[in-house]
Amino acid sequence: MIFFESTIFWRKKVGVTKPKSAKTFGKKEFAYFLFLIIMCLSFIIWYGFGISTQRLEDTTVTMDLYEERLKMNLESTLTDSHLVERERNKLLMAIEERIVAFLYQIPDFSYIGSLETYLKYRPQLLEQFPSAVPLEKGNYSVTSNYGIRVHPISDKEKKHYGIDLATARGKYVYSAASGTILNILFSKKGYGTHIIIKHRFGFETLYGHLNKVLVRKGQTVKQHEMIGAVGRTGSSTGYHLHYEILKNGNKIDPILSFNLKKNIYSHLIKSNTIKDGVE
Ligand SMILES: [Zn+2]
Repeated sequence: MIFFESTIFWRKKVGVTKPKSAKTFGKKEFAYFLFLIIMCLSFIIWYGFGISTQRLEDTTVTMDLYEERLKMNLESTLTDSHLVERERNKLLMAIEERIVAFLYQIPDFSYIGSLETYLKYRPQLLEQFPSAVPLEKGNYSVTSNYGIRVHPISDKEKKHYGIDLATARGKYVYSAASGTILNILFSKKGYGTHIIIKHRFGFETLYGHLNKVLVRKGQTVKQHEMIGAVGRTGSSTGYHLHYEILKNGNKIDPILSFNLKKNIYSHLIKSNTIKDGVE
C-alpha cells in the first residue's frame, strides 16, 4: 500500500499522469498471457506423458517378472506339487489384478509377449481383443503390408495403415474379437463400404472395401462372428479386405495379432481344450 501511495505521490510531484497508451490489456500483456498459457500446457503435456510412459514401463517390468516366475513355476521339478500349485495360483491372481490396466496402457501388440504364459491359462481373454485373422483359414493371401508403399491407383508413395488380404469376391469377413459395431460407412472413395468395431482395452478394428454388411450399428458381436463379405468398393484394384487395428486411437500393425490365438492355443497344456477358430 505504501509503495503505491508513494508512486502516486511521485507522479503528482513530477507531473506524470497515467500514460494514455496504458490499456488494461494491451498487445504486450496478451503476448505475455499467451506465453504463460503455452508454458502451462506444454508442462502439463510433457509431465503427463512422462508419467504415463513411466507407469507403462514399470508395469511392463512387473508383468515380465510375473511371466518369468510363472514359467519357472511350470517347469518346477519340486516334488511338493501342492506348494507349486499354490504358488502358481498366487501368481495368476497377481497378474489378474493388473491385467486390465496393463492391456489399456500398452500401445501395441509388441507388449503381449509378457502375457503369453498367463494367456495359456486364460485363453478366453483373447476373444476380447484382436487376436485372429478376420477371414477363413488358408483362404487369403497378404498382398500389402502395413507401412510405406506406392499406392496402386495414385502411384504416389503413401503410408498404408492396414493390411490387405486378397481373397475371392463374397468370402465372409469375421469379427477379429468380441465387441460392438461402432459404425458402418458407405463411401465411393477410400475404404468404400466399411465396418468399424469397438473392442475392450482401447482396441478398434476396421474392415474395408466390403460388398455386403451383415450387422447393424450398435450390435454386439462375438469373435469370429460373420459381419460382412469381401468386395471391391471404394479405392480398390481387386477383391480384397483392407483390415486395420487401432489401439488407443492410433493405427497399429495388425500382423502381430494374426498368430496370437493360434500360438496360445497350440501351446495349451491340455490338448483337449484346443478350439478350432476361423483363423
Ligand atoms: Zn489396404
